[in-house]
Amino acid sequence: MSNTKYDKYEAVIGLEVHIQLLTKSKMYCADAAEYGALPNTLISPISLGYPGTLPKVNHAAIEMAIKLGLALGCKIRAFNGFARKNYFYADLPKGYQITQDKTPICTEGQIEIKTKDSVKLIHLTRIHLEEDAGKSLHDIDAEDTLVDLNRAGTPLCEIVTEPDFRSADEAYAFLTEIRKLVRYLDVCDGNMEEGSMRCDANVSVRLKNSEKFGRKVEVKNMNSIRNVQRAIDFEIQRQIDLIEAGETIAQETRSFDAVAGLTFSLRSKEDANDYRYFPEPDLQPVLVSDKMIADIQAKMPELPSALYKKYIQTFGLSEYDAGVLTETKDIAMYFNALTDKTTHYKSAANWVMGDIKSFLNERALDITEFPIQVDKMAELIAFIDAGKISHSAAKQKVFPALIDSPNSSVTDLASQLNVIQESNAEALQSLVDEAIAKYPEKVLEYKNGKVNLVAMFMGEVMKLSKGKADPKIASALVKATLDKQ
Ligand code: ADP
Ligand code: MG
Repeated sequence: MSNTKYDKYEAVIGLEVHIQLLTKSKMYCADAAEYGALPNTLISPISLGYPGTLPKVNHAAIEMAIKLGLALGCKIRAFNGFARKNYFYADLPKGYQITQDKTPICTEGQIEIKTKDSVKLIHLTRIHLEEDAGKSLHDIDAEDTLVDLNRAGTPLCEIVTEPDFRSADEAYAFLTEIRKLVRYLDVCDGNMEEGSMRCDANVSVRLKNSEKFGRKVEVKNMNSIRNVQRAIDFEIQRQIDLIEAGETIAQETRSFDAVAGLTFSLRSKEDANDYRYFPEPDLQPVLVSDKMIADIQAKMPELPSALYKKYIQTFGLSEYDAGVLTETKDIAMYFNALTDKTTHYKSAANWVMGDIKSFLNERALDITEFPIQVDKMAELIAFIDAGKISHSAAKQKVFPALIDSPNSSVTDLASQLNVIQESNAEALQSLVDEAIAKYPEKVLEYKNGKVNLVAMFMGEVMKLSKGKADPKIASALVKATLDKQ
């Protein structure tokens, strides 16, 4: 959008992200909370809202919400009430959703995001707990909409952000960070394609120097982070075009069509729902004590943002390396364990990001399935550092052999493969002497100033050692010996 018409405007965006919690059972009853079961098999009179049934709060969901809130620097509420949000829909059998309305479990908080051009803080308004609705399936039967109630009552955390985003790229970076975080915390699988993480984008535009926000449009139904970005970009352009054409923006909810790459109107907000929230009479408020918060805090894993900083500040790695190594929790945990065994951080990082990752990618394996334990990898790195094997022999011979027999010792494999380098100075010295004795006329030329003949003698030493001489030590010896002639 380099056109000046667009340059006059600035986008303002706020996101609402639904996180499906990885609890075993549903939010207010014991039905299993699973994805992919046969339709309408994970239901009970409670999730179907039969008269006379009573909900009960799932404490695992409360703990997960607190974990998420703590990781995002939120305030955690002590007194958690629940409320009914009333509306009629085929996939909502009770006719209302139990949510938190005025007493969200987490408030405030923030997360740092990075885009190509900037680093900024995105502030959160709140995170509240609620239950999901079932699923209406419109494309299975030719005539009828089918309803699957397995999802009805599964626990969700809804994260609502302040309108802090100014571009689709920032929203993309935020969702990528949130997905990474919920996966590190094990509170959600972060899978947008399967709908376990969903995002609604509120988008408005305003003239760049204006203080006042424009009227917002809510965009739904994006099934990937990339599609959220596309939907926002489309929406910004559409709104600017409308304003430039002298029209006003209608307050509405729109849906994203990923194939056509555009948004279309779903419903106008003029006839906005009145949900008639009221306190849920069947649930006691949940009290969160300081002790409960402290216990959860004590069990928190290292967060990706903290690891990223540690890798740069303590290990001296580049931002790029730190980013790749913290992208998934499993890779970071392997790298963490490896750096407990070796202090050659850059070398450890190169192995993990290079040979180990390509091995895993080729076989579509997860690092948790990687056969070489960290102590063996650390041994291999130490061997290279000590000059006992060359980097290329380690990469091409010992590493694959170790994968095939991960219980063997690195020393055994290296000697079986005959790649242990000759670094014993005495043994090397005799090879150097032999090489020098072979070419007396070249020694003269060297003494007359042709210093690059060192390379020729080195080649000879490598040949005599059958490639096993440590090149660093050998070249120092060749030079020293030539200078003594
Ligand atoms: P609603 O009552 O319509 O749900 P909220 O005030 O609860 O609206 O805000 C919902 C989301 O919309 C929040 O993420 C908020 O940051 C965002 N938002 C609010 N006003 C605007 C605006 N003018 N432009 C873009 N996003 C906005
Ligand atoms: Mg809203």
